[in-house]
Parts: sequence; structure tokens; C-alpha cells
Amino acid sequence: MALIVAKFGGTSVASPERINGVADRLIRLREEGNQVVAVVSAMGKTTDDLLALAAAVNDAPPARELDRLLSTGEQISMTLLALALEQKGYKSISYTGRQAGIQTNGIHNKAKIVKIHNERIERALDAGFIPVVAGFQGIDENGDMTTLGRGGSDTTAVAVAWGIGADVCEIYSDVDGVYTTDPRIAPRAKKLESVSYDEMLELSSAGSGVLQMRAVEFAKKWNVKIHARSAFSDAAGTIIREETPMEQAVITGIAHDTSEMKVTIRHVPDTTGVAAKVFTALSENMVNMDMIIQNTSLDGATDISFTCPEADLARAVSAIESVLPEIGASGWDVDEDIAKVSLVGTGMKSSPGVSATAFRTMSENDINILAISTSPIRLSMVIEADEVARAVQVLHTAFELDSDSIFEETQLSAEEIAAKMEKGR
Ligand code: ADP
Ligand code: ASP
Ligand code: MG
Repeated sequence: MALIVAKFGGTSVASPERINGVADRLIRLREEGNQVVAVVSAMGKTTDDLLALAAAVNDAPPARELDRLLSTGEQISMTLLALALEQKGYKSISYTGRQAGIQTNGIHNKAKIVKIHNERIERALDAGFIPVVAGFQGIDENGDMTTLGRGGSDTTAVAVAWGIGADVCEIYSDVDGVYTTDPRIAPRAKKLESVSYDEMLELSSAGSGVLQMRAVEFAKKWNVKIHARSAFSDAAGTIIREETPMEQAVITGIAHDTSEMKVTIRHVPDTTGVAAKVFTALSENMVNMDMIIQNTSLDGATDISFTCPEADLARAVSAIESVLPEIGASGWDVDEDIAKVSLVGTGMKSSPGVSATAFRTMSENDINILAISTSPIRLSMVIEADEVARAVQVLHTAFELDSDSIFEETQLSAEEIAAKMEKGR
């Protein structure tokens, strides 16, 4: 008998039929002798639809109001799941983030969990209920609703699992585990049996949407075991846990991210303190910079480029405009048609040839690299957005990650890949 937190993403609760399916699975876990707490995301694309509704009436919706609105999505699915469980003869009780005792800081739209009071969940379990918790939401110290950033239900699940001392946090989605790369764009991706917290952290932060980065961060810090698995089959998925000495692969996985843009500030005088002014203004405007590139100086001036989420565009513009006159740059431009491809693996630490192989592969395939950054276990390259699927596929092959199984006949056309990536956004 185990204590299990089971989180179901948007696709898994997209319709009444699927909610019934989730209820059946929870009942099965219970009948097998486990205690179970469910965490749910909003149904299907509800969060996107709510964002579109807000945008239809306000160009720049205040973050607090947006959180109020977005938090309604998970409240629908949690209630429907509790109703479905009751219909099937099981006692269930649904909780909003506040009722589940999920306390966050006050940073609306990307709040961090600071405390969790799990007494209500534990009492409900003791009384034989299947508690259902709304993912993605919490309450700040003013009593205002907050949300945890896109994909944040994963973090709710890990936090609840830690709070109640669960044996495992099971994350159910439309894919049956963590693959060597996004199976949507690389049909030869292989399912991984296990991934270390550090690798998963790099994969998530490099854009692999399968688990929210914060969830992995939280799990690593508090040693919560995650099992990423399919909502639609019983196949074992991928375990995310501490690294084991057995892990030898040079590259564990490849992530891609098309949600960033590249900003270049042109002809910046190459004098002390200029970069400090630019990047202070950007951080004061809460722009999340990723890569920073300063070209070598020509005639006492240089170009400074950085990448950041496209969502930070307005804030980046106001930061740059505020320092431009002061630093004497000639101008700036934004390129939104970029993508980042990242190779991740702890084995990289002891394998010096990774960058050479990666750069050679890109050059042999005529893919231009616009920027590069590295960490001990990650190599990221910025490229043109329309090359991203091909880049992932050729790197996947070059690093011998391709599965032997015969997915070849399902090789996707460029249009199919584009359609799938659009769906994945
Ligand atoms: P949910 O809505 O259940 O939270 P997500 O859409 O957030 O599910 O995550 C699952 C999706 O993550 C998959 O459909 C898959 O396309 C994508 N994905 C990206 N990278 C990977 C990877 N390395 N392994 C598995 N899935 C991945
Ligand atoms: N519903 C939220 C989102 O779409 C949270 C989640 O699904 O994890 O981002
Ligand atoms: Mg998700």
C-alpha cells in the first residue's frame, strides 16, 4: 500500500469521458490498496481560451485579475472529477488552492509556493475520501489568488506529494514518459526508464514541456520521486530521481524551445559600465534573460545580443528605450523567429567531444548557429526557428539516440511537424 499523488494534465481531463476515465484510474489505485490524492489541470485548452478572453477585453490585463480568471479553469475540472467519483460510489472532495493550503508569494502569474498546510487533505484521506486538488493555483498573504506559471499543476502535485509525505508523485499526461526528445517532432525518440533531477531540470528549463521546471526543482530539493506516465495506458513511464552511478550516456536528451526571441543592441560604445546599465534596466523590468552575447569590439563599439521569452517583449522594449540615450547605442532590433536546441546529459562532463560533434552535425546539415551557451551538463544553440525540427532530428541521430523500432514510415512531413508544434505551444 502506497500513498500516491496522481496529477492529470489538460488532455487527460479534456472531456466528461476522459474525466470518467481518470476517476476509474483513481478508483483502481484505491482498490489496489493505495491512498490517493488527485491534482488536476484545467480541461483541454481552457487556460489558453481564458487568456484569449482576457486579451479580447484588455490589451494588458492586470496580473491579479488574470490570476482570478485563470484559476477558474482548474476549479471546473476538480469539481467534475469529484462529481464523477461520487457518481461511481466513492467519497470525494475537491479543494481550490486556498482550501488545499497552498500558500505562495505575491508574484501573480508566476507565483512560487512558500508553504503548504496539508491538514485538510490528510483529514479527508483519513475519513476515506479521495481528495481532488486544483492544480496551478495558490493564495498569497493578502488572500489573493495566484497562479504558478504555465504547466504549474505539476508543481502543485509535487508540493502536495511532499506535504503529505507521499511515496510517489505520478504525473499522468498524453505521453507515456520522458523521451530522448519531444516525440511529436522526432518519431525516433526513445522512452527513458529514468532521468536524474539535474538532467530533467536542464531539459525542462531548455523547453521540454513534459514537466514544469519548478516542479522538478521542488522535487530535487525535497527528494520527491516523480513518475511521469501515460493517462491512457498502464505502461511504466519514466522515474525522475537522484542520479545513479550507472548512468553513462553522453547525451540523455534533446530539448527545443521556440518561445524565445533575440534582441540585439547595435553599436554600443565599448566602455566600462555599459553592459551593467543595460542588464540592470532589463532585470529591473523583470526580463528573464537567457543567453547573452557580446561581439568583439570594432572601432570601439560592439553589438550586445540576448535572448529572452517572447512574452517579455514589452518589458524588454521599455528597459532598452530607457537606457538607449544614456549608453549611446545606434539602435536595436528584435528577431522573434529563432529557436533554441539544447543537448542535455550528465555524461557530457566527462566527454569533451560533444560540442565538436554538435557543431559538425549542424554544419553538415547547413543549419546556421546564431548563438551558443553551455553549462556542465547542457549545450544550447540558437538557430532559425524554421530549422528546429530538422536540427532536433539530425542531432538525435548524430548522438545515437534514435530508437531501433520502425517508426521510419511515420516520418513526418514539414507541414505535419509544424502543425504538431503549433498544438504543443
Ligand atoms: P499536460 O497537459 O498533461 O501537462 P503537457 O502537454 O504539458 O501535458 O506535456 C506532455 C507533452 O510534452 C507531450 O505531448 C510531448 O509532446 C511534450 N514533450 C516535450 N518534450 C518531451 C520529452 N522529452 N518527452 C516526452 N514528452 C515531451
Ligand atoms: N492549466 C494550466 C496551464 O495550462 C496549468 C497546467 O496545465 O499545468 O498552463
Ligand atoms: Mg504540463
